[in-house]
Amino acid sequence: MKRTAIITGASRGIGRAVAINLANKGFSLVLVYNRSYDKIKELEQELNGKCDFISVCADVSKPSDVQKVFNLAKEKFGFVDTLINNAGISHIGFFDTETQETYDKIMDTNFRSVFTACLLASKDMIANKFGRIVNVSSVWGQKGASMEVLYSASKHAVVGLTRSLNAELAPSGILVNAVCPGVIDTDMNRHFSAEDKRLIEEDIPLGRFGKAEEVASVISMLTEENLYIGGEDISITAGY
Ligand code: NAD
Repeated sequence: MKRTAIITGASRGIGRAVAINLANKGFSLVLVYNRSYDKIKELEQELNGKCDFISVCADVSKPSDVQKVFNLAKEKFGFVDTLINNAGISHIGFFDTETQETYDKIMDTNFRSVFTACLLASKDMIANKFGRIVNVSSVWGQKGASMEVLYSASKHAVVGLTRSLNAELAPSGILVNAVCPGVIDTDMNRHFSAEDKRLIEEDIPLGRFGKAEEVASVISMLTEENLYIGGEDISITAGY
């Protein structure tokens, strides 16, 4: 079966690593990026000749943009059997300084985006009796995090949706899973000072941040046709 995947946040970090991994497996790809035009062009150069792909500029916090992604994907490739909801933003701050605007921004980007894309993907997947959905949550979607209450709540919501959606869709051959990375060496963590980084690494049994490719290989495994894993939130933390 010819496979097609939509990957959100594909321009860099974990999303980019997933794109390269799935391209090597022969997937056609719909690469969703927001602002990183130069980086998506770099990725396109890397993928040229390796797989069929289109790039779509979209703000996944807006349902109309997500709808546009699915329209273009269907026009180009027909059935999209795989959805990787990877786009997300982090947010650090004391809870008593949060605002309704921050709530909307974090929840719309990290959760509403996942809800919308799952909703749009599920219709065709149910009709075709096959689908693989992987939602990128976080270790903070499994545990509480001081000064990251909204981020943590949005990632818990992703895990809740994943578990319930799998229960509803698995009878139609659609498996829905979440991955919960610990601390991964991407732009999201560039703000750490050398000292902060050293202190965090002391708390990671393996003694280092994870690599985007290490998260991508787990996500890639969860897209396989021969899969008996559903509704899980899989930690990728090396024991952090
Ligand atoms: P990153 O900042 O490099 O990538 C985030 C991606 O999301 C970027 O491509 C960005 O353009 C995209 N994005 C953000 N807002 C968007 C929007 N409104 N519309 C479209 N795209 C948008 O960081 P990353 O580490 O690769 O993050 C990928 C995912 O992994 C995120 O969901 C993040 O929460 C999750 N995660 C990361 C870590 C980590 O330590 N890096 C840990 C746990 C979970």
